[in-house]
Amino acid sequence: ARRVVVSGAASGIGASLTRMLQEQGDEVVGVDLHGTAVCADLSTEEGRAGAVAGVLEAAGGRVDAVVACAGLSVPEPTAVRVNLFGAVALLEGLRPALAEAGAPRAAVVGSITGTGVVDEQLVSACLAGDETAATARARQMTDGGSGGLIYPSSKSALAQWVRARSVAPGWAGEGIALNVVAPGVVRTPMTEALLDDERMRAAMDEAVPMPLNGHAGPDAVAGALRWLVSAENTHVTGQVLYVDGGAEATLRGPGR
Ligand code: NAD
Repeated sequence: ARRVVVSGAASGIGASLTRMLQEQGDEVVGVDLHGTAVCADLSTEEGRAGAVAGVLEAAGGRVDAVVACAGLSVPEPTAVRVNLFGAVALLEGLRPALAEAGAPRAAVVGSITGTGVVDEQLVSACLAGDETAATARARQMTDGGSGGLIYPSSKSALAQWVRARSVAPGWAGEGIALNVVAPGVVRTPMTEALLDDERMRAAMDEAVPMPLNGHAGPDAVAGALRWLVSAENTHVTGQVLYVDGGAEATLRGPGR
């Protein structure tokens, strides 16, 4: 059985992926704030170190795949601390263990919002790996009324990080595939209240048009993650796979 680490496993997309993997016979080591084998706060350095140590202990040092689903969309600095720095720390912390596996794979959950308007200063701080600067910039944004850009900025930085790392030393050369699944709007506890509010729902549908089958359920996203981290995926790496009902194609239009 493959041993797969899933952060954000207690809810939404991570919970759906956990169930799918277990149904196919994989072992899942869940990481979340509560209700998982490893409980840790990925917004703090201490929590991230505890998460990596806890996973290695629970997994007996053997890890075949890591999927970073944990994230949050609040217009606060904690969103960039979890979505970007928490995901990166988990992946980097488990990379040495992954490199020992026969068919190692990793994936993160990005977002269609990462292709839209972002705060360049925040993205730059993220890509420089400077969490102090990123947190300070996010704090300014929250206080200045542009906290809503923290989430898309964190997801843009995450996708850019994956594209760069996927072919950097330590990843592709060690056989580790590293990809992003970028959802459109997914019905999960993160979006439930927004989707139940008619005005918010209309605003979301305008920002993220999903002509193919409308809003996704968590299984649509989890299914793509499941394949990307399976042994079957031998050659897809550094990609951003939009699971968004056609939102990215609609918004960006035909390209080259
Ligand atoms: P969710 O809220 O159902 O699940 C997110 C999980 O992350 C929760 O279990 C939560 O406890 C965990 N988490 C949050 N902060 C944490 C922390 N500090 N430490 C550890 N765990 C923490 O939401 P979801 O919709 O399943 O989201 C999963 C991922 O998908 C997120 O990265 C989110 O940004 C992304 N995403 C969601 C949508 C959507 O429409 N729902 C769209 C695009 C991207």
